[in-house]
Amino acid sequence: MDLSLDAATRKRLETIRALGASQIRPLGLEADRLGRPTPPDHAFFEGLVKAGQGRTRWTGEAPEPSGRAPAQGVGSSRTALCLAEEMAYWDRGVAVSFPGPGLGEPPLISMGTEDQKRRFLGPFIEPDRPRWGSFAMTEPGAGSDVAGIRASARKDGDSWVLNGAKSFAANASRADWIVVWATVDPSLGREGHRAFVVEKGMPGLVDFQVERKMGLKAYESTSFSLVDCRVPAENLIGGEAHYAQRAGFKGAMRSFNATRPLVAVMAVGIGRAALDASLDFAREHDLLEDRRVRDRLERVRRKILSARLLCWQAAWLADHGRPNILEASISKAMAPAAALEAAILGMEILGEVGGRGDHLVEKLFRDVKAMDIVEGTGQVQRLVMARQLVQLPRD
Ligand SMILES: Cc1cc2nc3c(=O)[nH]c(=O)nc-3n(C[C@H](O)[C@H](O)[C@H](O)COP(=O)(O)OP(=O)(O)OC[C@H]3O[C@@H](n4cnc5c(N)ncnc54)[C@H](O)[C@@H]3O)c2cc1C
Repeated sequence: MDLSLDAATRKRLETIRALGASQIRPLGLEADRLGRPTPPDHAFFEGLVKAGQGRTRWTGEAPEPSGRAPAQGVGSSRTALCLAEEMAYWDRGVAVSFPGPGLGEPPLISMGTEDQKRRFLGPFIEPDRPRWGSFAMTEPGAGSDVAGIRASARKDGDSWVLNGAKSFAANASRADWIVVWATVDPSLGREGHRAFVVEKGMPGLVDFQVERKMGLKAYESTSFSLVDCRVPAENLIGGEAHYAQRAGFKGAMRSFNATRPLVAVMAVGIGRAALDASLDFAREHDLLEDRRVRDRLERVRRKILSARLLCWQAAWLADHGRPNILEASISKAMAPAAALEAAILGMEILGEVGGRGDHLVEKLFRDVKAMDIVEGTGQVQRLVMARQLVQLPRD
């Protein structure tokens, strides 16, 4: 595994660093103070698109016969990880609010037909304005147990009719389209799953509500309903043939194997931010003379850097077309825990200053908890890993 970064990625990291200090962190602090997401018509998003952000990883070209993505540069998972970590360092909420196809991109890339990629990812190659995509699996009654989703899909002539409720979907109300997972028959469990691209303005896509959150307030997590929402058959991701091969749930899981290291590495970014802010505070208050404080800070740094390597390994395997289920779960189990430890240590070092609620570390402490929850909780990752260790079949 090559740990070096190519020149283009290094340059993009420098750009994010500059943007982070001047805009990303201030916007994140503002959204946290106001308790609401940065609005979609904010000039920041327009500026990002002009600066080349908000693009898809899909190049518009047919994949290599091997199906492999490049190991470096645009299109490589590890490059995406480095950029995501840096953005999360400045503010993870703002990072998720960035325009782009978001978590809807992996299922379209891995399962979509070429026509669907062109229709839904094509506008993100050179976007004319800030555009968002979204991903909706979670329901009020189905989170960890994704097999238990109840949103229903019924074929009716040349279209599908969707009914149900979704919750916590990132950027859903501002998205051009949402990848919505529904079931043709709940008794089939995962085999009944189908993924649809539901486009903004389709009749029956209603009741958008931005959820209240303890942290990460700069981006919207949104619930919505599907009420007899009619979706054309050509919006079924991969087409019916894809599901005839029982590939629906595998497609969802492949998406998660790609996105778990990405979410995990964002926790690394938050952890680094908490560590840096704690170090600054400890230095300003002459706390670094105390060997116990130094030891605890160093221990946290060690865990954060180890977690980053685990994320990179999971991404490297994905980039080389190798299975990464275990590594994706390990990265997701370890990185948020390391970042949470960094934030807790920071709060302890700050003492009463942390308790007042207006210090960056206190905000990071609230932001970081969600990282253990999204994309499969840490507890569920531990179950997956234990199962894998003793070779139990999935239930
Ligand atoms: C900030 C935020 C953003 C999100 N963004 C999105 C998004 O963009 N799209 C989307 O679809 N979803 C999103 N989600 C939803 C997220 O994926 C779910 O919250 C997550 O899967 C957990 O589901 P749940 O909240 O229903 O908890 P539950 O599944 O009800 O779990 C509750 C607790 O029980 C534990 N648990 C569950 N099952 C088991 C088991 N079998 N054994 C032992 N313990 C178990 C869990 O670890 C957890 O601690 C988001 C959530 C948050 C908080």
